[in-house]
Amino acid sequence: MHTTPFYRPINKEVEVFEHAYTNKIPLLLKGPTGTGKSRFVEYMAHRLGKEMVTISCHEETSSTDLVGRFILKGAETTWIDGPLTTAVKKGLLIYLDEVAEARPDVIVAIHPLTDHRRQMYIDKLGETLQAHPDFMLVASYNPGYQKGFKELKPSTRQRFAAISFEYPTPPIEVEILIAETGIEKDIAEKLVQIGNKIRNLTELGLTETVSTRLLVDAAKLIRSGLPKRLAVRVSVVEPLTDEPETVAALSDLCNLMI
Ligand code: ADP
Repeated sequence: MHTTPFYRPINKEVEVFEHAYTNKIPLLLKGPTGTGKSRFVEYMAHRLGKEMVTISCHEETSSTDLVGRFILKGAETTWIDGPLTTAVKKGLLIYLDEVAEARPDVIVAIHPLTDHRRQMYIDKLGETLQAHPDFMLVASYNPGYQKGFKELKPSTRQRFAAISFEYPTPPIEVEILIAETGIEKDIAEKLVQIGNKIRNLTELGLTETVSTRLLVDAAKLIRSGLPKRLAVRVSVVEPLTDEPETVAALSDLCNLMI
């Protein structure tokens, strides 16, 4: 038996998830990377006693990857269910992480599962599947306040109930760092201050900013004995940018703060 993953609720997302599940409404988690979306789904799957399948979508993810394919076995071809088909049949929770990254045919494949029909069409078999009553679809995407992110069409968004994830308030983020890593409170506070400072430096035009994940990584490295400034540099500053000048400026800033 696995222990429940640690998740610190921020708003009413636990209740929303439970009600969405009971009412068979698919859920969309919006927000930047590293804000706890995946952790939240893992936590909810555990809480509801559901088996969970995660698909990390990328540019090459196609409906075939989700629905299934024929493979050649000896002289015969055999059909292999993809993870979505398995989840639909067995009533599992499927989590499509970064769904907007996937090819458009993925969105087409999930459409009939996101309305009252809760059906899935397997064109290669000419079959329509009715979803198991316990099947749940959860997807995440990063709306991207900066350019370069893929958008999800409004008509697709409207098929889901949606929750926004943001960076937690400082006291909650401190709590998360301590719970995740066992770091001392004063160091956790300093890391969170650094995170917020950099998040407010919008003029740097960073495509991604400091996520809770990066701060957790810094805390882990410090906890295992790496000098604080080095830990911040390698886990917070360097992952944010490749521009040497920005790295130097951010490092100076962080060094003053920890
Ligand atoms: P996302 O799926 O949004 O990219 P993750 O769920 O992978 O983000 O979160 C990254 C890390 O941040 C987690 O591994 C966890 O350590 C931490 N984290 C962020 N938010 C929370 C939260 N509310 N409760 C617990 N841990 C969190």
